[in-house]
Amino acid sequence: MSMEFTDRLTRVEPSATLAISALATELENEGKDVVDLSVGEPDFPTPENVVEAGKEAMDAGHTGYTTSAGILELREAIVDKLADDGLEHTTDEVIVTPGAKQALYEVVHALVQEGDEVVLLDPAWVSYEAMVKMAGGDLTRVDLSEYDFQLEPGLDDLADAVSDETDLLIVNSPSNPTGAVYSDEALEGVRDLAVEHDVTVIADEIYKEITYGVEPTSLGTLEGMADRTITVNGFSKAYSMTGWRLGYFAGPEDLIDQAGKLHSHSVSSAVNFVQRAGVEALENTDDAVDEMVDAFEERRDLVVELLEEHDVDVAVPDGAFYMMLPVDDDDQAWCEGALEDAHVATVPGSAFGTPGYARISYAASEERLEEGIERLAEEGYL
Ligand code: PLP
Repeated sequence: MSMEFTDRLTRVEPSATLAISALATELENEGKDVVDLSVGEPDFPTPENVVEAGKEAMDAGHTGYTTSAGILELREAIVDKLADDGLEHTTDEVIVTPGAKQALYEVVHALVQEGDEVVLLDPAWVSYEAMVKMAGGDLTRVDLSEYDFQLEPGLDDLADAVSDETDLLIVNSPSNPTGAVYSDEALEGVRDLAVEHDVTVIADEIYKEITYGVEPTSLGTLEGMADRTITVNGFSKAYSMTGWRLGYFAGPEDLIDQAGKLHSHSVSSAVNFVQRAGVEALENTDDAVDEMVDAFEERRDLVVELLEEHDVDVAVPDGAFYMMLPVDDDDQAWCEGALEDAHVATVPGSAFGTPGYARISYAASEERLEEGIERLAEEGYL
């Protein structure tokens, strides 16, 4: 039997992060001790009360289908959380998904048609490109690396990229992979361009709770943005719930109606008892989140300091748990070499559209971070 795959799919690259972790696993299987700085998940357990809420919901028999958009109780809690961020939505304007990735997939597929133009701010999280291509869209990319990954000084470049032909812009602040948190001035610049050229914007705010001394503004709160912003968020990062698969998006009701069809005809709904644990995560985890964020901030400071000792300057991130390490132009070879020689796993910047860097995740203990940097230095990678 010969199969013919769609162009939309064949023009998508396999995940670079998965390629690195496959190589890391191979080394571990050979008995090597790999310091894994490539992971995109907090190394903290899900807060105990959230686990308990999930177990109780399961014991109480909440294992059946739910309303496709998600149980009302969770959508109400999400509406309250969004209101705390200054975003006004009703429960009819929220869809709960199995993860923020699925939320983004549904929004992109609801909005992007064949040949539509989508603008990304580089470096950009790996799956945006793949999702846009799978939807048939074309990409225009704005490189923020020369501005220490900050958007404000790059607004002129963004203005050159956005035109009346632009259909969608994706903004991710705090950013994966850079940890940059965009300033209010930068977001106002985005707003001005979006309004001028009538562009819809996805605001991926999955790292919003993980910031160090800055309060990120939600794009949808800016004047003129409420009707053109879809806010995406999830539980993976702030509440250490990667494997629970829980996320959501909120936006204008007509978008929700259309994306809701894609949602109900594909995933049906997020898992019932997981949604109930999600209510607990939103309502009763402030202390656990604060504790985790404090730990990340200390690790960020540690990594920056250790790198400075090796004369490596990085753009200091204000959020998320990543930073971009400047490396050789051939970042792919650098990452493979660092893994093979120093047994330290990182992700090549080119996977995010920005060669010449490697992404380090500091979702690892201080001991492992110290060990990883020492090994990189010893093997001549710093
Ligand atoms: N958006 C960004 C920027 C991410 O980094 C991730 C995960 O790494 C996601 C969305 C998806 O998160 P999840 O599907 O686990 O909720």
